[in-house]
Amino acid sequence: MNERSPIQVTIYNEFVHERKDEKVQAVYPDGIHETIAGFLRQQPDMQVRTATLDQPQHGLSEEVVASTDVMLWWGHMAHGQVEDEVVERVHAAVLGGMGLIALHSAHYSKIFKKLMGTACGLVWREANEKERLWVVNPSHPIADGIDRYFEIPQTEMYGEYFDIPDPDELVFISWFQGGEVFRSGCAWRRGKGWVFYFRPGHETLPIYHQPEVQRVIINAVRWAAAGGRATVTGIESAPNVRISPEGVRQID
Ligand code: ZN
Repeated sequence: MNERSPIQVTIYNEFVHERKDEKVQAVYPDGIHETIAGFLRQQPDMQVRTATLDQPQHGLSEEVVASTDVMLWWGHMAHGQVEDEVVERVHAAVLGGMGLIALHSAHYSKIFKKLMGTACGLVWREANEKERLWVVNPSHPIADGIDRYFEIPQTEMYGEYFDIPDPDELVFISWFQGGEVFRSGCAWRRGKGWVFYFRPGHETLPIYHQPEVQRVIINAVRWAAAGGRATVTGIESAPNVRISPEGVRQID
């Protein structure tokens, strides 16, 4: 990516738990967005901004969205407070080529549900049990640097059935100590935009401090940035090609 300009990354976090709950503050004192921004800012090919729910337009103005290559989304208890106008703006940006990485409880965010077109439900349990994430697509760039599997020692369980459309590419499947499994790393193309859902990240556990989790997120940002470089036109609109390459003409 040396000759390209840096990837413009925007991290949206609703930033509610961290200001209400001491347990969450202890793990993410400056907010989950700042923890994620911290390791992404160490990447020489990335420029990172953050956005939070309480800011005007949730920090996702037209200018910010238009100048974002990849957006990360973390939300949990305040999905309903995200303005529909902002969701429409982010959705249009994805169709136009912006990458979107939905983290953990963002499975229920307005933007993820809109992109999927399904209810996006799942089953869950908080028991601080072990999770083992298996790589099921070892040549996928998002799995780069990960071995056959990695483990999160204590996590919240998310289990199947996960109500999503079949992923275009499945990168990770999780197994949990309790016995459930889950499609925890899923990729889709939506218009020109590339979308990745990554399951880990409960707010009371130090999951975003774990090197393997950080590695996956860094890989996913680079992967998602590639989507917007497609040059095919006519994806976001329906242009009338009045003359074909072989000279066939539109009847007026
Ligand atoms: Zn959670």
